[in-house]
Amino acid sequence: MNGRMSHSRRMYTGAVVIATMLMYMGMQVSAAPERSLQRLAMHPTTQNDIVLHDDAPRYTMVGSVDVRTRTLQMRQTLAWVNHTGASIRELPFRLYANLSDFAGQTRIQRAFVDGIVTPFHYNLSHSIVTLRLPTAVRNGATGVVTLEYQTSIPLDVGKTKYGAFNDDGRTLSFASAYPLLTTWQGGMWDITDPDTKGDLVNSPIALYDVTLTIPATHQLVSTGTAITQTFTGDTRTVRVVSGLQRDFTFVLTTLPVTTRMVDGTRINVYVDADEVAGSAQTMHYASRALRLFNAQFGQYPYNELDIVAVDASSFYGVEYPGLLLMQAATVAKPSRLERTVVHEVAHQWFYNLVGNDVQTDAWVDEAIATYAQVIYLRAFEGEEAAQSELASFQQQYDNLIERELDGPVDQHMRTYTLYSFNVLAYAKGALFYEALRMQIGAHSFGRVLQEYVATYRYQIADSDSLYELATNQCTCALDTLYRTWIRP
Ligand SMILES: [Zn+2]
Repeated sequence: MNGRMSHSRRMYTGAVVIATMLMYMGMQVSAAPERSLQRLAMHPTTQNDIVLHDDAPRYTMVGSVDVRTRTLQMRQTLAWVNHTGASIRELPFRLYANLSDFAGQTRIQRAFVDGIVTPFHYNLSHSIVTLRLPTAVRNGATGVVTLEYQTSIPLDVGKTKYGAFNDDGRTLSFASAYPLLTTWQGGMWDITDPDTKGDLVNSPIALYDVTLTIPATHQLVSTGTAITQTFTGDTRTVRVVSGLQRDFTFVLTTLPVTTRMVDGTRINVYVDADEVAGSAQTMHYASRALRLFNAQFGQYPYNELDIVAVDASSFYGVEYPGLLLMQAATVAKPSRLERTVVHEVAHQWFYNLVGNDVQTDAWVDEAIATYAQVIYLRAFEGEEAAQSELASFQQQYDNLIERELDGPVDQHMRTYTLYSFNVLAYAKGALFYEALRMQIGAHSFGRVLQEYVATYRYQIADSDSLYELATNQCTCALDTLYRTWIRP
């Protein structure tokens, strides 16, 4: 932890908007219109990536949000290609809203397969709903299922619950608020409830196409990019396409926006009008981080990155695909702001573009996103600032050792305590990256990170992925280093 467009252009209607927008983007709708639309959310240099991942799951959602009752009413169709190797009769979906940390509710109203009403059942905690398919989906075949559901978010619980799923009075945050097909692991569906110390959502890259009707008083900010917008009475209807993204999160907000283009990506920052300095600094840090990481890790593959301040206490910042939520107090407090923005921007490469299992291999994205703070300081402030950041990680780690709580960085989320997770996966993990850089040299280290992103982009990396690339790059033995820092 730790899209949209600015609405200067308005008041188009219906099909005219699609044609206008596509002409504006210099594209045309031809034989594969849906794919063409999804390209609009990608960076100009990565639009062909869509073609390479044509069999990614496709979520199409149409619905509306009632701000007064804080309720999302949605109809969702998932087209999913079965790559499990098995014949599938049951499809389990995660309902994160029903976890106690979220304090919300998702209720499935109806399920359909090929237009036929299909039975479903919940697990004990209602965090999983499972559809019983009328016929099996063979390996390699495509299954299409439709769910109608309602998701409600709580009011003003950011101080005690997960603030990324909350109405704080100005922003309604719907983090992972839809039924998400769970992952297939070790020959079965993973239906265990996640440990909620850190990030929760494991999912493959997917394509989202979402049309939402919301009050005209609010802006829709989301994963992906808005391609059309129409106004009817006091509502607006916005259609968003995601490009290749790992999850879909959206917020409705009345906060003002500032916008800047960086390397072909539009950064939108939504912060309270009273926090002029915090808003400008957030934009400044995000712009510098994006430009630096584009150069060091490879181009951010999307045309938009949104940052929204929300009332929350369980995080300083939290990453979603193409969307960062920042604790409003962090935006107002300069001391933590820069490292938090940099950390969350780095997660766009590590967690989103290069995925990892955030429960079994939580350190894989957290350690490198934390180390990215050092990379950033070294680039913009010099070696002394980088060493100072490393010294603060060392201090945290020394305190842990003193309390006799040292352990391997690589653990399942369940075996950390909250304290040991925060020190081992973040601080000790970042110190490991510095030790790796010292051992193989700065040049090789830079190459390894580039190769890591190039190799695992849109895929799932694990605890050994970087080890293998680094070993090949340096033609040296890194077992001692990994035993010292990482491995159980
Ligand atoms: Zn993080």
